[in-house]
Order: sequence, then structure tokens, then C-alpha cells
Amino acid sequence: MQPYSESFKTGSIIFAEGDSPTGAYLIESGRIEISTRQFGEHRVLDELGPGMLLGEMAVLDDSPRTATARAVTDCALTPIDADQFAERLAAADPIVRALLMSQLTRYRSALATLTGGTPGTENVALGRHGNADAFGKIRLESELRAALERKELEVRLQPIEEIVSGRIAGYEALVRWQHPERGAVSPAEFIRLAEETSLILPVGDYVLERVCDMLLEFKQRGDKRLPFIAVNMSARQLDDPKMVERILALLHSRGLPADRLKLEVTESLVLNSAHIAEFLARCHAAGMHVALDDFGTGYSNLGPLLTLSFDQIKLDGSFVKALDTSRGVAVVGVIVAMARALDCDLIAEGVETHEQREVLHKLGCRYAQGWLVGKPIPLQEVLNPV
Ligand code: C2E
Ligand code: CA
Ligand code: CA
Repeated sequence: MQPYSESFKTGSIIFAEGDSPTGAYLIESGRIEISTRQFGEHRVLDELGPGMLLGEMAVLDDSPRTATARAVTDCALTPIDADQFAERLAAADPIVRALLMSQLTRYRSALATLTGGTPGTENVALGRHGNADAFGKIRLESELRAALERKELEVRLQPIEEIVSGRIAGYEALVRWQHPERGAVSPAEFIRLAEETSLILPVGDYVLERVCDMLLEFKQRGDKRLPFIAVNMSARQLDDPKMVERILALLHSRGLPADRLKLEVTESLVLNSAHIAEFLARCHAAGMHVALDDFGTGYSNLGPLLTLSFDQIKLDGSFVKALDTSRGVAVVGVIVAMARALDCDLIAEGVETHEQREVLHKLGCRYAQGWLVGKPIPLQEVLNPV
């Protein structure tokens, strides 16, 4: 099918300098000259041909045309509505958008100088395209890189209790960033940022190393039973084919057994990863356990449980909150039964009250984690309780 297009005869003007932008074009056939007036004289800036975009600049920042487009030969152009760009631009990564807008501003400024006009001093994009947010993010990312190098990230441990015995069976490692100006930045904020780029890999390695060092400290204290420590894993870490080998090397170099390190992967990540089955198989072959984190949230889907054999399921805190209703108790009861049938340990997250722990106990849930048991604290406080 021929694409819908508009025809322009040789010599006709497609748009002129100063026109307000209505849309852009994709050149299907023919050639187009882009020109401007420089110190009052006609000056050709470029000649465009099939497959190229025409007039997209003015559409991007909604400014008047800064050049004239004239058909050098007969042309066929597919019009692109300004909204088609606007929607995609609004949906783009804010940093990519900021880069694009910054380049556009610079180009317009250079063009104004070239043609004898006044280079615009205002940043076309700032504010309107959310650049302030994007630059804030870039700044935070640079600071996070520096914090990582200076080892300013702290790994805290939150206890996980075996409900029947009241024994602390293990801990979840939760990372913290003590920012020099902003104070404690939540991992919910900076982990997501790190996950947008490969920065999550060195952050993840840092956490894994710290956790292995902590296990070694527990071991050196000579406790009868070494507790486990669970580490949260991100998508990019799972996609790294050498990840399991790297973790095993960290454990072996400290003489630690593989089954004391547990890996947590979230439900949403499981649904989107093509490598999860392979990752699980490698972990199991090495004796490491893997937990399905945030079970029951957002992406709720029982599909993965049909084929993937997790060792633990972590019930999201929202289900624990619902335990004061009969519906909540009914749903959690079913999840406890399901976990048992699958030979999985169930860990309830976000347990804040005695009542919640009591109901979980009655329902047969094995582990509890939450403020009732303990908040995430530094290793030294775990080893030397006050
Ligand atoms: P998560 O894995 O679901 O971790 C549990 C979160 O619930 C933690 O928040 C914990 O402090 C909080 N929490 C624990 N008990 C309670 C409670 O009783 N009540 C309430 N309201 N909250 C409780 P935190 O430490 O802010 O971590 C947030 C998320 O950041 C984690 O959620 C995890 O997804 C991510 N995260 C933290 N550390 C790491 C890490 O080292 N690597 C990766 N990839 N992600 C991490
Ligand atoms: Ca977790
Ligand atoms: Ca969780």
C-alpha cells in the first residue's frame, strides 16, 4: 500500500522562515532545499532526500520555522502531525528528552549567530519539557556513583523470625544511602534510578560483597547456626550470565557455605525475565536458595509458579495489613496452603503488630519480617544489641 502523502511541484515552498509549525514530514521521494537569509542574503543550509525528516525541529519545541523548505524536484511527503511527536516525546526517558532539547537549543543559537540574528539566551526546553527533573536525576546519578566509590552506601540487616520458635533465622540486607545534603535517601528512590542504567551492577556487587563480609563476621563469632542473609536482586544482575559464578567466588573466598546467602527476586522481574529459569537452576545446583519477593503485588500472576521452583515466597506487606478482615485471612490462608503444597517456605513481610503475627501463626505461616520483629539496623547493632 502506498503511504498517504502530499505532492509538491518543483520550486514550490513547503514552509517558510517565520511560519508557525503545523507538523513535520517524512520525505518519500524528491529533494528539498533548506535555506535561510544570512545578513539579508539567501543561504542554503542543507539538501534533504528520501527517508529523511523535514521540519521536525520547530515541532519539537513549538517555535516558528527558522528556515525555508523548497522543493528542488517534484516531491512526495508524508505529513506527521505535531501530536504524534508530542506524545512520544512526553513518554520518552526525561534524560533523553533533556539531551534532545539541549542540542536543539544549541543548534538554534548557532543558527541565529550564523544568520545575523540574536542567539536566544533562554533555554527553550527548561521547565516546559521537565528538564529540571531530568537534570536532578542526572545529578543524583553522578552523586550515587561518587558515593559508591567512597563506600558511603550502608547495608542494614532486618531480622526474619521463625514464628513457632521465636528464633531469628536470618536477615534481609537493605541498602541505605546517607546523602551529604539530602540525608537518608530511600532505596525505593535510588535503586530505581540505578536500575535505569548499568549502575545497578556495581551497586549490586557492593551489596553482595558487604553481605558476604557480614556472614564472615557472624561465622567468626562462632554462633552455633549461621543465620542466612537475603539479598535483593535486580533485573540486570539476573541477566549477567556470570552472576552466579561471581557470587560463589565471593562466598568461597571467605569459606562460607552457599546456602547462607539467599537471593530475592521480585514477582514483576520474574514475569519479564527470559533468564529466570536458568538462573534458578544455577543457584540450586550451587546450593543457593531463591525467594520470590513481593508476592501478590501489582503483577499478580500464578503462572511462574507452574514452572519455577522457588525455595521461599515472600508475602507482600499489603496482605499482612489485610489480616484484620475476614477476606484478608481467607486469602492469606490459601497462600499459606499453596506455599506448603509447593514445598516453599512462606515469609510474611511488614508484620507490625502482635495480632498480625498471631493470625499468621494460626494460619501456619513459617516466618515473619517487619517492625514488630525488628527494623533494619547496622551489623554492629545486630552483633552487640543494646
Ligand atoms: P523490599 O525488598 O520489599 O524490602 C522491604 C521493605 O519494607 C524495606 O524498605 C523495609 O525497610 C520495609 N519494611 C520492613 N518492615 C516493615 C514494616 O513492618 N512496615 C513497613 N511499613 N515497612 C517495612 P526499604 O529498606 O526502604 O527498601 C525498599 C525497597 O528497595 C526494597 O523493597 C527493595 O525492593 C529495594 N532494595 C533495598 N535494598 C536493595 C538492594 O540492595 N538491592 C536491590 N536491588 N534492591 C534493594
Ligand atoms: Ca526484598
Ligand atoms: Ca518485599
